Amino acid sequence: MMTKDEALDILRAHRPKPLGVETVPLGAAVGRVLAEDCVADRDQPPFHRSAMDGYACRAEDLEGAPVVLEVVDVIAAGEMSSRVLGPGACAKIMTGAPVPTGADVVVMVEKTETLEEGRRVRILEEVPSGRNIAPRGQDYREGEAILRVGRRLRPLELGMLASLGKDPVAVHALPRVTVLATGDELVPPGGPAPGPSQIRESNGVMLTAQVAALGLGIPVRHGGIVPDDPAAVRAALEDALHGDVVILSGGVSMGDFDYVHRELHRRGLEVLIEKVAIKPGKPLLYGRLAADGGRVVEVFGLPGNPVSSFATFEIFVRPHLEAFCGLPEREPPVFRMEIRGASSGKAIPRTQHLPVNVRQRDGRLVAERVTWHGSGDLRGMAEANGLLVVEAGASPPVDGEEAWVHLVEPIDPSRCLPVSDEAR
Ligand code: AMP
Ligand code: MG
Repeated sequence: MMTKDEALDILRAHRPKPLGVETVPLGAAVGRVLAEDCVADRDQPPFHRSAMDGYACRAEDLEGAPVVLEVVDVIAAGEMSSRVLGPGACAKIMTGAPVPTGADVVVMVEKTETLEEGRRVRILEEVPSGRNIAPRGQDYREGEAILRVGRRLRPLELGMLASLGKDPVAVHALPRVTVLATGDELVPPGGPAPGPSQIRESNGVMLTAQVAALGLGIPVRHGGIVPDDPAAVRAALEDALHGDVVILSGGVSMGDFDYVHRELHRRGLEVLIEKVAIKPGKPLLYGRLAADGGRVVEVFGLPGNPVSSFATFEIFVRPHLEAFCGLPEREPPVFRMEIRGASSGKAIPRTQHLPVNVRQRDGRLVAERVTWHGSGDLRGMAEANGLLVVEAGASPPVDGEEAWVHLVEPIDPSRCLPVSDEAR
């Protein structure tokens, strides 16, 4: 059995390369990963730009203000003035308009008085040269690389790409993912009530949503429930091998009817991870299968207990899918914080991941232990948003101690502790 770090090292060594490049409309690219370096095709601002509504003036004319100037032009955003300002002249100018040649300052309209129906203006204060003008090329220069390959496209990057004229944009192609839930005892959540020995299937929808929640746009298919039967496992697998990644839940333990394991071996799985010294999640399986056309399909066999499935996805599968989509490797979302609540659990020779509810108090994160009965207890995990990491051989932290927590979702401001909650 390998340690958590050894398993992560193996996955890192087998980080998939992105599948290819595709061009998508900018408006459909949120969450995608950039596959081209994007270079500025012009300076930004492209001209000396007025940052205010006001009057473009020559700073030397303003010495000894108040002064009266002649208004020789009115320049709207989108217009280029052909006038060259001489001594004693100024131009009325709007925010975003190019400053006319000869002017080196814009005086905001609030510091002026209109005279003679706008033919002249009184400038009330001296304003130094350069004020209220964004000089050409201040933000970036033509030819400068602004966004590079591997950049995740948030709304900000989409805005930036629009400024660069990158529509459509080249992004990395997405892997196709299939989720399969195995187990004879499982019935669909929306179907008839389960029989006395049956349970509702919960991992399929959860894992599918975990893939979707990556926000990378990965197309994911829930392939349904597969019975514990070698032929059924084989058929479902063959079908799923049309994609790039298969995520199976259940059937990877040592039970008499755990066929996932055996069928994957028979099908020629190159086994890279078979058991990991973690709790929950020990029977984690990862390997690669040859498919048609010389393709290699990544296969994860996650333990069927719902919390094991959930946690092993977050810790092991997520970084792999991110790599597939072209994201560079990043630190796992593990943060140091105060742990609250009675220390339950004991030291074991495996790395433990215990559900905690991470919230914000006075600008700091605190993690509260939740009541939890082990890997089958999805209810306890559903009250949590993080996994307290307890190293192999270590005891879980006591109340008030600091420890590492693996966040399984971004910090949600709505989970901040209410201010009325008593400080301890
Ligand atoms: P297995 O990994 O197949 O041995 O399953 C371990 C435990 O998880 C058993 O109690 C199963 O009934 C339960 N289980 C397996 N798959 C699912 C699933 N998709 N949804 C809910 N529980 C499951
Ligand atoms: Mg099973």
